[in-house]
Amino acid sequence: MRLTVKLLNIAFFCAALPLFSSTGPDGELTKRTRYLMDTYCSVLAPVKGDMKTAAALDLALDRVEELDKKFSAFRPGGQVYEFNKNGTPITDPETLELVKRCLDMNVKSGGAFDITVTPLVRLWGFYGELPKKPKIPGKEEIAAAMKQIGPGSIELKDGRLIKLRASAEIDLGAGAKAYAVGEAMKSLKASGVKSAMVDLGGDLYAIGLYNGKAWKAGIKKPRGEGALGIIGMTDLSMSTSGDYERFYEIDGKRYCHIIDPVKGVPASELISVAIITPDATMANLLSTSVFVLGRDKGLKLIEKYPGTEAIIIRANGEITLTEGLKKLFSLKEKGGKK
Ligand code: AMP
Ligand code: MG
Repeated sequence: MRLTVKLLNIAFFCAALPLFSSTGPDGELTKRTRYLMDTYCSVLAPVKGDMKTAAALDLALDRVEELDKKFSAFRPGGQVYEFNKNGTPITDPETLELVKRCLDMNVKSGGAFDITVTPLVRLWGFYGELPKKPKIPGKEEIAAAMKQIGPGSIELKDGRLIKLRASAEIDLGAGAKAYAVGEAMKSLKASGVKSAMVDLGGDLYAIGLYNGKAWKAGIKKPRGEGALGIIGMTDLSMSTSGDYERFYEIDGKRYCHIIDPVKGVPASELISVAIITPDATMANLLSTSVFVLGRDKGLKLIEKYPGTEAIIIRANGEITLTEGLKKLFSLKEKGGKK
């Protein structure tokens, strides 16, 4: 059972943002922010003068910083960088675990999710600064890039990731941020923190209650002010994939950074997907997969993961909520439809 709401003239964008009021019995929130993984990472917790909790926030950010170095395809020194550039096998267990989850998602998503998509992302100009005068690549160029990709170009065996094709590269961008959010939260819990929110560029994770209530995350409207809706989050993570994050337009058509590896072109049926589940990494893997698959196939994929909820927004403004989300999400709309 799903709820589909047709909304006109709204929400051609959807991003998660933490919302909170600092008045209440738990007092003000202490917040620490660092620029990590190409975005701002904030950790928030009610502290009430407890310096141990404040120190725990710094520790959690240290953990994200460590993972930023580890998973980056662009930072010299990390194993992913060395693998891509020089073919050095990856042996770091944590990186291999993330790669394994990504390879599993490749199978589950029928190839929509693919960490070897790099040549296509590069061809469409989505690494580094966006092209000033973007051009649609030619059919031959797309076909050539598509020949370079596919999980068959790498092999994970006996504690090593190796290249089976010299040109193979991996891009963990669609899973690394949320993995880091999950790890930051583990670090906070290990420090004894019972209530906190981690926000890494819109990939969120909240534990416990704040002022006796679930933490709140807003789904922002891009055109016009305010939120499309609010989600109450307790021991839940939310990851969003959208065509607003990195994109350019050619002749009025938007091209975004999430590429359909099967078609060789940027995915375009959806403009935003938010996935809500306790498993942060899964939220991120699914948000990218569903973004590529589109609504109907995407919902079929989500159904394979019990306890996973989604908000899917199509380019025509149609919003689909999974059944379980109705308890967590309130849609702010003229007329107050819910
Ligand atoms: P996200 O914002 O989590 O959806 O991740 C998007 C990032 O994942 C992009 O910036 C690319 O680096 C990478 N990416 C693009 N297309 C795909 C795909 N089909 N499968 C896996 N990763 C992708
Ligand atoms: Mg993702």
